[in-house]
Amino acid sequence: MNIKREDLDVLLSEEQIQTRIKEIGAQITEAYKDRDDLHVIAVLKGSFMFLTDLVKAIDLELTVDFLGLSSYGDSTETSGVVRMTQDLSLPIKNRHVLVVEDIVDTGLTLKYLVENLQTRHPASLAIVSLLDKPENRTVDVDVQYTGFTIPNEFVIGYGLDYAEKFRNLPFIGVVRKG
Ligand code: 5GP
Repeated sequence: MNIKREDLDVLLSEEQIQTRIKEIGAQITEAYKDRDDLHVIAVLKGSFMFLTDLVKAIDLELTVDFLGLSSYGDSTETSGVVRMTQDLSLPIKNRHVLVVEDIVDTGLTLKYLVENLQTRHPASLAIVSLLDKPENRTVDVDVQYTGFTIPNEFVIGYGLDYAEKFRNLPFIGVVRKG
């Protein structure tokens, strides 16, 4: 399907997203204020925009690293097979790791990621996801901070793509029905 910007309805506006990120940032600041060494890991590519706004909303010293995972290919259905496309550049042993995800759908990506990161012995491991689509979950995953719980629809924008496009939209949209 060839989608254009005009085919999208706004599900979450830029203002809604920014307001919620400030709340989550304050929560994370409070939760980690007595721990040294907060290490934020963003899962590429979808969480790049969430990461940049979230770290600005966390009022602590922190470090950032990136990890590339892919399970979708070019379609809107998960392939179920998670692949690491880029590994971390820094060790995480004994560090307080906060993983930043764009969206949790089936949970397969996060399960793979958590199992992988646990083998590297972080001091603690928590997840923050901007979006959660619980209806489609096939495996249990523990997400400590969630921005918005949304219906089981394919969403686009604010880092999330449709066939690699639309990641630059400042809002989150859905394809208009009918
Ligand atoms: P899961 O493994 O939980 O099924 O899927 C997680 C990954 O699939 C997300 O990190 C994201 O890249 C992609 N994904 C899941 N749902 C959507 C969606 O509605 N829109 C887009 N663009 N990507 C999604």
